Amino acid sequence: MSVLVYIENVDGAFKKSGFEALTYAKAIGDLTGKTVAALSIGQVEQESLEKLGTYGISHVVQVDSGRLKQFVNQAYAAVIADVAKHLQATTIVLSNSFSGKGLAPRIAAKLGAALADGAISLPIIEADIWQIKKSVFSSKAIATDKLRTTTKVIALTPNVFEVKESPVSTEITAYEPSINTTDFSTVIKDIVRTTDKVSLPEADIVVSAGRGLKGPENWGMIEELANVLGAATACSKPVSDAGWRPHAEHVGQTGLAVSPSLYIAIGISGAIQHLAGVSSSKTIVVINKDPEAPFFKVADYGIVGDAFEVVPQLIEALKAH
Ligand code: FAD
Repeated sequence: MSVLVYIENVDGAFKKSGFEALTYAKAIGDLTGKTVAALSIGQVEQESLEKLGTYGISHVVQVDSGRLKQFVNQAYAAVIADVAKHLQATTIVLSNSFSGKGLAPRIAAKLGAALADGAISLPIIEADIWQIKKSVFSSKAIATDKLRTTTKVIALTPNVFEVKESPVSTEITAYEPSINTTDFSTVIKDIVRTTDKVSLPEADIVVSAGRGLKGPENWGMIEELANVLGAATACSKPVSDAGWRPHAEHVGQTGLAVSPSLYIAIGISGAIQHLAGVSSSKTIVVINKDPEAPFFKVADYGIVGDAFEVVPQLIEALKAH
C-alpha cells in the first residue's frame, strides 16, 4: 500500500500546483506510514525528474509514451489508475487544477474510490474513515468529506498547501501503461498557446481590475503592473461581459474562484458576488477612489485614490526595486 501523486507539467516543466500536491502527498505518507511515489506523464527532462527528490520523493514513475505527449483527459486518467493499481497505491493525490478537476472523478470511478475534490486540509483519520475539509459555496463555507473506501482520491486546491523541501535521492523507473484506443476518443490535434501569461487559477499574485478602469484601452497599466509582479490578470464580471477582457479572467461567484497569496483589486467595488471568488486570498489590497467602497471592509491594505494616479506610481516604485 502506498501513496501515488500525479504531478502535472506544461511543456516538460512541472507546475507549482504539482509541487504542492507532492508536499501534501509526502505529509500523508508521514501521517500513515506509507511510501510515496510520484508519477510524471509525458516528456520531462531526466534532471527535472531527479529534482523531485528535493521534496522528499524517493520513487518517480515516468510514463513517456508518444501518444501521451499532449494531455487527453480520459487517457491520462486511465494511465494514473493503471499506475495506481500497479503500485498497489491506495491513496492517489493530484492538484484540483483545471485538468485535475477532469481527472480526479475519472480516476476515482476507475478505482472504485471515494473522492475528496478541492481538499484544503490533511485528513483526520479515525477508524479508517478519512475526514478532509474543502471549501464550498464560493469559499463561504467549509464542508467535510468522509472517505470510507480503502482506495481514496484527493484533489488538492491550488495555493493552500505550502511547498516544503526535504531532499532525498530519487530512483526513476519507466512504466509502460495499458491504455486503450477508446481512451483517445478525444483527439487534440494541436495546442496553440496564445499567451505566456501566468495561469490565473494557480497564480500566486493576481492583479484584478473593474469598471473603475473606464474602458479596455486603460488595461495597459494593469498588464504592466502584473508583469512587474509576475502576476496573472483578472477582472470583475461587468468588465468581461462588456468584452473589455476575456471571460477566462472573470472571477467571482459566476466566474473563477482564486486563492492567491496576494490579490490586488483596482477600481472594483467589492460586490458580494465578486468577493465570493476571491475572499480566500491570503492578502487583499484594494485601490479605489471611493472610501466607502465595500471592498475596503475585507481588505488587508487599502489605498483610497484614483487608479490612474496610484497604479503608475506603484509600477514605478516596484521597478525601482
Ligand atoms: P462597479 O460596481 O461599477 O464598481 C466600480 C468601482 O470602481 C467603484 O467602487 C468605484 O468607486 C471605483 N472607481 C471608479 N473610478 C475609479 C478610479 N479612477 N480609480 C479607482 N477606483 C475607481 N461580479 C463579479 O465581479 N463576479 C461575479 O462572478 C459576479 N457574479 C454575479 C452573479 C449574479 C447572479 C449577479 C446578480 C451579479 C454578479 N456580479 C458578479 C456582479 C456584481 O454584483 C457587481 O455588479 C460587479 O462585481 C461590479 O463590478 P465592478 O466592481 O467592476 O463595477
